[in-house]
Amino acid sequence: MKFAPFEYVAPRRLEEAMDVLAESAGDGSVILAGGQSLLPLMATRAVTPRRLIDINGLSDEMAGSTWAEDHLRIGALTRQRAVEQDARIAQRCPLLSEAVAMVGRPAVRTRGTIGGSLAHADPAGEIPVVARALDAEMTIVSRRGVRTVPAAEFFARPQRTTLMDDEILTEVRVPLLPDGSGSAFVEVSRRFGDRCIVGAAAVVTLDQGRVADARIALANVAGTPLRAGRAEALLRGEDASPGLVSEAARIAAEDLTPPSDLHASDEYRQHVVAVLARRALTTAIDRATAPA
Ligand SMILES: Cc1cc2nc3c(=O)[nH]c(=O)nc-3n(C[C@H](O)[C@H](O)[C@H](O)COP(=O)(O)OP(=O)(O)OC[C@H]3O[C@@H](n4cnc5c(N)ncnc54)[C@H](O)[C@@H]3O)c2cc1C
Repeated sequence: MKFAPFEYVAPRRLEEAMDVLAESAGDGSVILAGGQSLLPLMATRAVTPRRLIDINGLSDEMAGSTWAEDHLRIGALTRQRAVEQDARIAQRCPLLSEAVAMVGRPAVRTRGTIGGSLAHADPAGEIPVVARALDAEMTIVSRRGVRTVPAAEFFARPQRTTLMDDEILTEVRVPLLPDGSGSAFVEVSRRFGDRCIVGAAAVVTLDQGRVADARIALANVAGTPLRAGRAEALLRGEDASPGLVSEAARIAAEDLTPPSDLHASDEYRQHVVAVLARRALTTAIDRATAPA
């Protein structure tokens, strides 16, 4: 099937893009970034924008990473492949590196952007679930001003965020983990690089063998990426023993009511969550205790 007809505009500056979005809010205009999610939807006419606002010309203002002592800022137009290949991100924010390498295939990651993946809000997306695990914050701009939205409030439902029609996601702020932390991302998919059936991200911070902080974020078990709050609470303040990890993973699965679809039943997803959460937590703990 061919695309439905659409208008096309390619602003060269963020200011210009904000003007275009302010003028066109609500009229069926849609931002185009890497096109890896939007163009397939347009090709099947599941989405028929009246106008595409191509923001690829804004790379100078919206691509690349900047570092502060306690956080990393990644421009929304940064390609997924650039993040995957960034040695400093691999060292200081390894959960993101590990997960981004599982997004599609290299060709997809070469075009696909970090911001596009977040704005697309696929509940199975690796980057959204990592944003939840790392308590990332989105910077969103429009002619009405700038706002910051925590990942916990950004994802609304499948393929829907709290972004308004006139807004652009410009960057994501990722807090860095303290010393003594380890993280891991694991997923089950039909083939490596396919959309995951279930994914699990774990972050553990240890203090003399005890769990100072634990986070478990799950992909494709609900309409948005989820945190397993009760399982996290069980771990905090306790010795990081295999028995406790298994119990936390069991609770993470027990608290879910995952969907059934073509790829997996709800029961299968629940079973896989217990397995993946245990694996992710165990690996995160091993990495937290490994010598630097
Ligand atoms: C074969 C294939 C396999 C894939 N496998 C996976 C996978 O395993 N895991 C995974 O997570 N993804 C997968 N994807 C999707 C891929 O990661 C996309 O790159 C990503 O979802 C969207 O990023 P994009 O830059 O291409 O955005 P686009 O497709 O250009 O846009 C996606 C949506 O986000 C909006 N948008 C984009 N940027 C902004 C912004 N800065 N501000 C506001 N709104 C914005 C657009 O308007 C659109 O609604 C796959 C895609 C393909 C084609």
